[in-house]
Amino acid sequence: MKPKINHSGLALPVKGVDWLHNPIFNKGTAFTDAERDVLGLRGLLPPHVHTMEEQVLRVMANFRSKPNNLERYVQMVSLQDRNETLFYRVVTEHLEEMLPIIYTPTVGKACQEYGYIFRRSRGFYLSSEDRGRMAQVLRNWPVPDVRVIVVTDGERILGLGDLGAYGMGIPVGKLSLYTACAGINPVQCLPITIDVGTENEALLKDPLYTGLRQTRIRGAEYDALLEEFMTAAQQVFPGVLIQFEDFGNHNAFRLLERYRDRACTFNDDIQGTGAVALAGVLSALRLSGGKLADQRVLFFGAGEAGLGIADQITEVLADEGLPLAEARKRCWFVDSKGLIVHGREFLTANKLPYAHTHEGCPDLLAAVHSIRPTMLIGVSGQPRTFTKEIIQPLTQYSRRPVVFALSNPTSKAECTAEEAYTWTEGRAIFASGSPFEPVTLAGRTHVPGQGNNVYIFPGVGLGVVATGARRVTDAMFIRASRTLASLVRESELAEGRVYPTLTRIHEVSLAIAVAVAEEIYSAKLATLPRPEDLVGHIKAQMFKPEYPDYCPHGIPHMTFAPAG
Ligand code: NAD
Repeated sequence: MKPKINHSGLALPVKGVDWLHNPIFNKGTAFTDAERDVLGLRGLLPPHVHTMEEQVLRVMANFRSKPNNLERYVQMVSLQDRNETLFYRVVTEHLEEMLPIIYTPTVGKACQEYGYIFRRSRGFYLSSEDRGRMAQVLRNWPVPDVRVIVVTDGERILGLGDLGAYGMGIPVGKLSLYTACAGINPVQCLPITIDVGTENEALLKDPLYTGLRQTRIRGAEYDALLEEFMTAAQQVFPGVLIQFEDFGNHNAFRLLERYRDRACTFNDDIQGTGAVALAGVLSALRLSGGKLADQRVLFFGAGEAGLGIADQITEVLADEGLPLAEARKRCWFVDSKGLIVHGREFLTANKLPYAHTHEGCPDLLAAVHSIRPTMLIGVSGQPRTFTKEIIQPLTQYSRRPVVFALSNPTSKAECTAEEAYTWTEGRAIFASGSPFEPVTLAGRTHVPGQGNNVYIFPGVGLGVVATGARRVTDAMFIRASRTLASLVRESELAEGRVYPTLTRIHEVSLAIAVAVAEEIYSAKLATLPRPEDLVGHIKAQMFKPEYPDYCPHGIPHMTFAPAG
């Protein structure tokens, strides 16, 4: 007998117990009486049929009783492995509670402990041992219709450094957010880790480490491997969107330049971060009433995030009519060697556009006094470096100074929300990478923004998938950024928020997807025809975490066609 397949090309389970062991089809105790009879599940489940709402209650009761966040992470990953539909229902309904667990900050801890908490393999591993056969290996993935890949080589996981194969938690988590926040169908998502080795000595000595025991391959050998991966991924999954995530910055910029015109690809650490921070800056200007062209933005950290943000700020200024060279002068950088100025040593090509003619400054404190920034953006991965003596003077340069401490996870933030508000007597407009609780000062409550990339990349991905875009451009991210800033309500701004509340994420992702789709059509980058009702068309594609009825009339699977 030929196997039956569903619309995603997946083979349906054959025997009763297989329905329970397949996370895509499993409904657990919610299989109805009719399904239990027809699918051969009678006896394999306790007699009572639970509703999905009751199942959600059970998961949440368990979740809240766990002793720590790592345990909660393990619980959620295990649920995802057992029952994907229920996992997404729980995450969608409790997004604010779930986000810090399935993504930053807890995912950072989970990556560090990946070998210890490992239960079942999730995602897809390629390694330097697959050289010459990557396409063949990729065909082992059971789903033919993959639309979005998130790939890492594990070299710069959040602000935690090289975690090698343990980095898999990041593509897995990011793709969960594509589904939870923008309704990309989970079976169309493929998390990939390319294991090229690690420089992390502790991992190389750890018997539980899951990766190759070798130092990182680099140079031409690395480039050839990435080239083979990009070719193979596009061959096996034509038109797939490939998101680069947490690569070391020496590779991230190069790979983006190499592939942005040859594949449908982007780097979230550079472009996604750029867009989310730009949206925060635009919202902050709505709060302060200032103009972007009048700002002096000082970045602490000149890596993927900092340069990505500065590039988008300058693009908007250029859009508004400022010559690019002038626009760049609004952005200043301090890296580990001090203020980046013209003629300084240790300047990579990416930093050069921001090396202005100015006296040198050895450190951030000196740079703050010299540049007198109206906005200070921390993307250094260096914890507690925004001290009182750095934050306090900002109130002299701006009525509402912007302080974004974006380094992740929480332990790496340049300062806390409480510090930023206290040291500026409540005048700071604050956002961070990982969440902070609201702060009450002199009877007024300030709600910190979380400059989480999740506001941007799921919506961009949905726009790309819905239009079958051939490329991802910076213009799409600027459209996404402007859309995000425009969605912040006056009531949210009044609380000090520079981003919409996370509970609005579906509305946000849909609006971004529509704006990005408009950009894709106007740039003639779509491979699919423009539907008459663009909003309705995109909305209809969004995955809903609901159980299908496998035997609506007691007859198995009328809606699924036999294979072949
Ligand atoms: P990166 O490795 O590319 O860059 C880090 C930069 O910090 C480098 O320029 C480095 O020179 C600089 N740096 C290191 N030590 C320093 C020191 N002592 N003084 C001054 N500068 C120093 O990393 P990245 O991708 O740019 O990420 C940086 C941080 O930003 C990470 O913690 C990451 O988690 C965070 N981040 C947050 C968001 C967000 O909130 N949405 C997004 C992306 C990255």
